Amino acid sequence: MLGPSNHWSLLYPQADQRRHETALRQAMDRVSASGSYILGAEVTAFEAEFAAYLGGGQAVGVANGTDAIELMLRGLGIGAGSKVAVPSFAPSAVAAGVMRSGAVPEFVDIEPGTFTLCPEALDELLRSFRGRGVRAAVVVHLYGHPADWANLQRVANEHGIELLEDCAQAHGALWHGQPAGTLGRAAAFSFYPTKNLAALGDAGAVVTKDAELAEWVRELRQYGWKERHVSVHAGVNSRLDELQAAVLRVKLGALNESVLQRRRLAATYDARLVGSRTVEAPMVRGGCEHAYHQYVVRCARRDALMQHLLRAGIPVAALYPVPLHRQGAFGGENELLLECDRAAAAVLTLPMHPYVSEEAVEEVIEALKRFEHESS
Ligand SMILES: *Cc1c(COP(=O)(O)O)cnc(C)c1O
Repeated sequence: MLGPSNHWSLLYPQADQRRHETALRQAMDRVSASGSYILGAEVTAFEAEFAAYLGGGQAVGVANGTDAIELMLRGLGIGAGSKVAVPSFAPSAVAAGVMRSGAVPEFVDIEPGTFTLCPEALDELLRSFRGRGVRAAVVVHLYGHPADWANLQRVANEHGIELLEDCAQAHGALWHGQPAGTLGRAAAFSFYPTKNLAALGDAGAVVTKDAELAEWVRELRQYGWKERHVSVHAGVNSRLDELQAAVLRVKLGALNESVLQRRRLAATYDARLVGSRTVEAPMVRGGCEHAYHQYVVRCARRDALMQHLLRAGIPVAALYPVPLHRQGAFGGENELLLECDRAAAAVLTLPMHPYVSEEAVEEVIEALKRFEHESS
């Protein structure tokens, strides 16, 4: 069957909204009636529930994930005059958040298998001239796969830098049984509507077990106030809304089940892609539980395959098409980051979210087979 089917008419944000329609309406009505719309009971409750979900520490709700990166760095005193190492194969938000803190991003290569920050490449950067002034690394658990934490931690300890997590794609991921978001000194989360835990708008959080850092971020997110109307830092306005917090409390209750569903779907893709001549299924490192924010394959003829699937009505994308070190806003130096360039040319996201059916996966597999057939 050629042409678009009805499998793809409802994309994840809307499907997730519909799944929770009744509970979300109740939550939003509760906020509407409460008279409290900013930093009230819902935000306090969500912060406590999200921290408990991760097994302790504190969560500080902020306006979005990019702000979470900025405020996590600034809360640690990292800003102008400092450098922060980041993987170059990542969403632009990672570098944008670092730059908003005042620090300069230094781009590092990734491991080809997991698409996450390469410990050897980080070590090499920190030993080089370019690495002088690097005070932290923001480690992105890209697509929901935990980075090689033990080796990254070893390198970070050796050079005395902070290791921080970007968990915007990793809600529900585990590294040797430990939730992503609890591995480093602090973690930044986004709850953008496409993420595994999704608000109905912008939302984010900084998570940390460091009470002093949590306090700093609480102050920075609201004008730098320590007490009302008295700023002690150059703060910003980056608060999590009561409405979004109430929405997130509903969705948090379903997070584990929805991540399990993503894993079941990934297992189906894995099984159906065995022996494929066109695409290479994603790997999962031993000890890691992937959160499958995205299911990403590598393919030699990516652009042709992407066009073929898009023509068949299947929503696929090249995430991410241009490494950060090649983007006008961040680049400038000609670092040689071979694996980032290779990944950017080869990756393709296949449809992945808890509402993708097994039949929909079959449709993707059939379209892949037609591509193989037509191009052989
Ligand atoms: C989505 C995302 C961000 C930014 O989050 P926003 O809420 O859109 O600001 C940062 N890092 C990663 C890895 C992301 O996927």
